[in-house]
Amino acid sequence: MNLFQRDAPAIAAVASSERVSTQEDDSEVRLIVLDFGATHFPFLEGQSVGVVPPGTRDDGRPRAMRLYSVASARDGEWPGTNTVALFVRRVAFSGAGGTPAGGQTSNWLCDRRPGDRIEVLGPFGDTFLLPDDPATEILMIGTGTGRAPFRGFAQRRLRTAPHGPGNLHIFFGARTPQVFPAIEQLIADPALLPSREVAYSQAQATAKEHVQDRMRRRATELEVVLRHKRLHVYVCGSLGLESTVDATLDEIARARGVDWPALRQQLLDSGRYHAETY
Ligand code: FAD
Repeated sequence: MNLFQRDAPAIAAVASSERVSTQEDDSEVRLIVLDFGATHFPFLEGQSVGVVPPGTRDDGRPRAMRLYSVASARDGEWPGTNTVALFVRRVAFSGAGGTPAGGQTSNWLCDRRPGDRIEVLGPFGDTFLLPDDPATEILMIGTGTGRAPFRGFAQRRLRTAPHGPGNLHIFFGARTPQVFPAIEQLIADPALLPSREVAYSQAQATAKEHVQDRMRRRATELEVVLRHKRLHVYVCGSLGLESTVDATLDEIARARGVDWPALRQQLLDSGRYHAETY
């Protein structure tokens, strides 16, 4: 951790930057792959990297660092390459007089093109990590760019233990179906991913749903997952998600004779409950 800091950052080049949300979707999300070249930048799935755009703020002070979760496996976006993938959502808001403005770092990152150089800090984070044991059962619940670590976890499992015995289960909330293909395409094998539930809160063709609605629909399978002896639970996404997930798991578990608060505490105590919201 913290191998590269502001006074000596790693320099990476943008290898690719692909918009994964459609043009019609008002929220732009890009999958950006960075290439570290000859620099050794070790990282693990679930960690984050720091980015500081060049220049200074209007008041002359240095710009703040922003964190972006790793979205690829530790051996690179393409196996054996010195690369890391990030999902970056362009943060937009109105500036003075209603002119379009936006988040400093996310806009700067989304505007980078292949070949551009970026200073990268980190890696950061030692709690939101995937266990090496392929027999662990992984329950992932997320929204928005919370998909990033889950993509990294899936890539890692696909490359190291594609036939289990542990399974991956993902419950994901997105605004529209367009924002999810990047992870859908990656995890095409239903054997690896028995529960793959995506709720769309702004879908037009299908009923509007939230991630907790999908969890309730899969309550019977979730009970089996919750009773798994080697379960790890990961919650990643927008602020407020954790309390929603907690209440939903409590509701599902209680109806099936499982004491979720006690199980959650047990998972926390043994480092098997992981939450990251921002
Ligand atoms: P900033 O310039 O910092 O602005 C941030 C917010 O301030 C805006 O959203 C807006 O609400 C408000 N704001 C600022 N100025 C104005 C203004 N003039 N008018 C109105 N509102 C204003 N993000 C991702 O996209 N992908 C990830 O994988 C990811 N992983 C993360 C992991 C962790 C552990 C954490 C803590 C955060 C993560 N984030 C991720 C969020 C990311 O770090 C940044 O916070 C985000 O990109 C916004 O940074 P920014 O510099 O673009 O916005």
